[in-house]
This record gives sequence, C-alpha cells and structure tokens, in this order.
Amino acid sequence: MSNNRPKHAPVIQFPVRDNCLQIGGMSLMRLAQRVGRTPFYAYDRQRITERVASLRQHLPTEVHLHYAMKANPMPAIVQHMACLVDGIDVASGGEMRIALDTPMSPGMVSFAGPGKGDDELSCAIAAGIVLNMESEHEMERIARLGAHLGIRPHVAVRVNPDFELKSSGMKMGGGPKQFGVDAERVPAMLDRIGKLGLDFEGFHIFSGSQNLKVAAIQESHEKTLRLGVSLAQYAPAGVRLLNIGGGFGIPYFPGDEPLDLAAVGENLRRLMPEVKRQLPETRVVIELGRYLVAEAGIYVCRVLERKKSRGQVFLVTDGGLHHHLAASGNFGQVIRKNYPVVVGNKLDGNEREIVSVVGPLCTPLDLLADQMEMTKAEAGDLIVVFQSGAYGLTASPTAFLSHPAPVEVLV
Ligand SMILES: *Cc1c(COP(=O)(O)O)cnc(C)c1O
Repeated sequence: MSNNRPKHAPVIQFPVRDNCLQIGGMSLMRLAQRVGRTPFYAYDRQRITERVASLRQHLPTEVHLHYAMKANPMPAIVQHMACLVDGIDVASGGEMRIALDTPMSPGMVSFAGPGKGDDELSCAIAAGIVLNMESEHEMERIARLGAHLGIRPHVAVRVNPDFELKSSGMKMGGGPKQFGVDAERVPAMLDRIGKLGLDFEGFHIFSGSQNLKVAAIQESHEKTLRLGVSLAQYAPAGVRLLNIGGGFGIPYFPGDEPLDLAAVGENLRRLMPEVKRQLPETRVVIELGRYLVAEAGIYVCRVLERKKSRGQVFLVTDGGLHHHLAASGNFGQVIRKNYPVVVGNKLDGNEREIVSVVGPLCTPLDLLADQMEMTKAEAGDLIVVFQSGAYGLTASPTAFLSHPAPVEVLV
C-alpha cells in the first residue's frame, strides 16, 4: 500500500474523541442517531461564530462584513449569521425572503444577479433593500417599477472591472461577462441614475471565487478600491457603499494551504486611509460566502456495501453526487480531486486501506472519494466528507434518480 501519497488537505476544525469525530460537542454516532437517518449535512454553529470572529480580528474595523448566502441558504444558518455580520447579500427572490425573516435591517441587504424578474425587483423595492444593478436595461426597469409602486428604489451599480482576479477558481469579472456593467460604461449610467431619481448607494465590484493566493487578493483589493474611488467622481450623489466582493478560498485538496488572513487584513489596513480620505462617507464591504461556512459543515452518509472488483475496494454508500455534486468533482472542477473524506466513527484505526467511496446512482460520476487511503470500513460505518458547508446541498441535483433529499442540521 502506498504511504507517501498525500491523503487530503489538513482538517483540524473538529475534535476527535474515542476514535469518533465530534461535531457540535457531540459524537458523530450520537448525532446520526439524533438526526434519525442518513445521509445528512451537519453544520457547526460554533465554527461559524469563530470564523466571523477571526475575520473581525484580522480585517480593519471599518471594513464591513456581509454574508453571501447562496453559499448556504439554510434558514437556521442565515438566522445565526444575521446576528454576527453587518449585511446579507442575496441572489434570488427566494434568498431575499429568507434574509428578510432575519433581524438584519433591510437597508443592509443587497440583491445581485443577472436576470432578476419584475416580481423579484418589485418585492426588493418594497422591502427597501439595495438592488445591485447588472445592466442599463435593469436600471430602466427598476425606475419604472419604483414609479409604479410609488417607492424610490435603493440602487448600486455592479461593475464589471477592467481587470481579472488572478488565480481564482471561478472568474466573475474582467473581460466580457454576463455580470455587471463594463467599467467604461458606468459613468454614463451614473448620469442616468441621477436623471431617473433613483436613490444611489454606491458600487459593487466582485471579481472571483475560491482564491487562496494572498498576492492575487491583495492586488484585486487595491485595484477594486482604486476603481471605486475613480468612478465616484461621476456619481449622482455621495457614495455610501463600496462592496469590494469576496472570494476568499478554503483548502480542499492536497497541497492547498489556508488563506493568510493576516496578510489580507494588513494590506487593507494600508489601503483604507486613502479610501477614507477620498470617500469619507463610504462603507467599505467585503462579501463572503464560502469562507464563512464551508469549513463548518460536513456531509455524512452510511456504508451500505463493501465490495471488491478486480482488486479494488468500493464502499457503496447511501449518499452521493445527487446530494453533494461538488465533492464528486462535477461542480466546476477541471480535474477531479478528492475532498477530505474519512470514516467518521473510526478515525484512528490502524487497519488502513485504499478505497473508492461511491453512491447509489447508476453513473460512474457518482464518486465521493477516488482511491483514497482511510481506515478499513464495514457496512454501517459513517463516511464524512469535510469542507461541505458551502455549495453543497443547494448546488446539487437532488432530483437525479429520485432518492430522498438529505436532512440538514445546525448544531
Ligand atoms: C457567489 C457570490 C459571492 C460569494 O462568493 P464566495 O466565493 O462564496 O465567497 C459573493 N458575491 C457575489 C455577487 C456572488 O455572486
């Protein structure tokens, strides 16, 4: 058995007791009994609280922190988060309803996304949340709907910057994009916002996701702040909001290192005085999804069959890509790599082997771990996929093969 292959990215956020993973102060076995069935997602409230505290500690105090809830829209998580962060960013009418059920002030909720429907825009205008406008056409629609409702819409312009976020897992700005308004067209749009009498809040500039490279994030923050300051001279009113995006990454794969948050914070501390001088009235916001919740979550499924085929061991489980597309490697990854996967109730067993963990679906894509080394498992054991708190359940094709959906718990 090869021992020098890297097993997976280091996972240190959950304690182990009596050979069993502990989550929310409870053993995984006990939690599985409490949930009553597998598979399930479990999110650890304390880990989320600590993650926000660590951001507060490292980022300058004047930088506001928002939760981009599409990373995990479970209502209990959004409620918990609403008491920790300064704002919530939503990307659909459904997410907006969940955000409006929390104690968060509607003025601190913003709505981004290309292709918002008239019904979504009208609800957002009535709720008093900030609409991040993705096109000139959307601006005209918002003005018309606002006039019809007799309510002045709060708007910000989502800018497609003239630079890209280097090294990010998913690029969402720079070059031709369906997101935002090309930076060079923004001055004319700002003029029109003034004429339409919309209540102008500021700018939203978001360039990419899952970035672990400090230098790239630092460069993006510097360019984004500079772009915000330069566009401010065309604004029809004072700039109250400058949302510089998020995209902080977390380690998933062998060789990934956690983001150096201290260095990101230090850079912002260096940049903020000039921003404050140029835009004294402006709230600078960082919006994060994945970074706030991904490491607080696990996906748990049960081994149904232990099966051998031509020398390879397969653990067939009741969970799979229909619940957790990202862990199967089919959610935007170019090359399939294993998420950190362990036998959660047999963590330190000394009988180890190389296995593939698969699901019940009739497709070879249904693979949660491809030839990974882990403790020897039997039917009934619990398989845990770490780093599963973001883009898990709601980013998965739950209807595929008509198996039941998993349970979600916040512990
Ligand atoms: C998805 C998204 C985010 C969150 O990205 P993460 O990589 O999860 O931090 C933030 N802002 C906008 C506009 C998004 O679409």
